[in-house]
Amino acid sequence: MSGDDRIMVIGSGLGGLTAAVALQRRGKDVVLFEQFDKLLEVGAGITLNSNAITALREIGLDKTAEERGSVLEKFAHRSSGGKLITTWDTGSIGRNLHAPIVGISRPEIQRSLAESLGDAELRFGHKLVGLEQDGSGVTARFENGAEERGAVLIGADGGNSTVRPLFDATPRRYSGYTTWLALSNVENFAPGTHTQWYGNGSIVGSHAVGGGKSYWYASKTAPEGERDPDTKKECLDIFGDWHEPVPEMIRATDNIPRSDIYDLPRRDRWGEGRVTLLGDAAHPMAPALGQGACQAIEDGVILASYLDTDGDVDAALRAYEAKRIERTAPIAKRAGLQGKLMQGDNPAIRFARYASFKFAPEGQVLKSFQKLLTFEG
Ligand SMILES: Cc1cc2nc3c(=O)[nH]c(=O)nc-3n(C[C@H](O)[C@H](O)[C@H](O)COP(=O)(O)OP(=O)(O)OC[C@H]3O[C@@H](n4cnc5c(N)ncnc54)[C@H](O)[C@@H]3O)c2cc1C
Repeated sequence: MSGDDRIMVIGSGLGGLTAAVALQRRGKDVVLFEQFDKLLEVGAGITLNSNAITALREIGLDKTAEERGSVLEKFAHRSSGGKLITTWDTGSIGRNLHAPIVGISRPEIQRSLAESLGDAELRFGHKLVGLEQDGSGVTARFENGAEERGAVLIGADGGNSTVRPLFDATPRRYSGYTTWLALSNVENFAPGTHTQWYGNGSIVGSHAVGGGKSYWYASKTAPEGERDPDTKKECLDIFGDWHEPVPEMIRATDNIPRSDIYDLPRRDRWGEGRVTLLGDAAHPMAPALGQGACQAIEDGVILASYLDTDGDVDAALRAYEAKRIERTAPIAKRAGLQGKLMQGDNPAIRFARYASFKFAPEGQVLKSFQKLLTFEG
């Protein structure tokens, strides 16, 4: 790159932080701009699948994630009444790929990344509101009146991105369901196991995240934008009579944020000129495969390798997008279909869901997931 080589990353979620660490490790001049005054600690957990752990290895953070999180060896599927439908030996995928599946609290993995920023600067209180670019660089404009210039701008600003609509008018699609995410200060009832319970049009899941804490999430079919300010009461009304420990986990949690789920169809490019996207800004997807953040982490590591060039920035960014669209578009599509299968509440879908867990040969299921969880760099 010529002239001002600074790379501006907008958003300090898991994707933006990973990109900043990976770029800094390659000796790049990086500055990260976050709209809020501190890291957005959404207070819940996440499953870092083997592909994310392999990608984190490239920036030296795989062991940190394993040590600060909790390795997950099994995936159990149960009815809302507690009946065991099946258990998958997902630990075998981690062993085959030499990268375990790890449950971790989001604040913990965000902190681990932030501690590894080195010379990369993280500026809080900078909400991007617009940008202009010319042949030599990009000017970013912020709500606080600041203007900053760099050679490249990476929109890592999440599903409700400000950067994406500047280049792409494709509207996000509402999935038809909403979710709650929470972290409770109770030991997980089944350490090493990720458990999911299924009702009619509703799901609860939980696993350990290390540090004696449990992560749980829930979802239900709902109209877009539906809100009840008392999310704990809302969850107890819906899930309060489910198999223990579901009600117990809800009762033991105070902060239960709710968000609707959206995705986007495949597009041929994510940005223009010196601007690109990563993570949910580029490819918001249903959470059904636990891949949104894993793909954001993959994006960050791979984008840094494409920007490790003295050549044409535009060409490097378009090549990065082409590679990542091939990887993420099929995953987003599969996550959308899987979400419909898991959330569906008509009898045909309920039967298909039950059959897919009960009768699908475990070997085939694991083989398919292993392919998905393989990070090829
Ligand atoms: C119920 C549920 C469960 C999930 N489970 C998993 C899972 O197990 N595994 C998994 O891999 N994924 C999971 N996901 C998906 C995952 O949470 C997201 O894909 C991931 O967090 C996206 O990361 P990101 O960095 O792209 O965006 P975000 O985490 O949204 O970060 C965007 C950042 O940009 C900042 N920002 C936004 N606008 C601006 C602006 N204009 N200027 C400056 N800063 C800005 C925001 O404040 C934020 O800090 C789940 C999602 C849900 C809803």
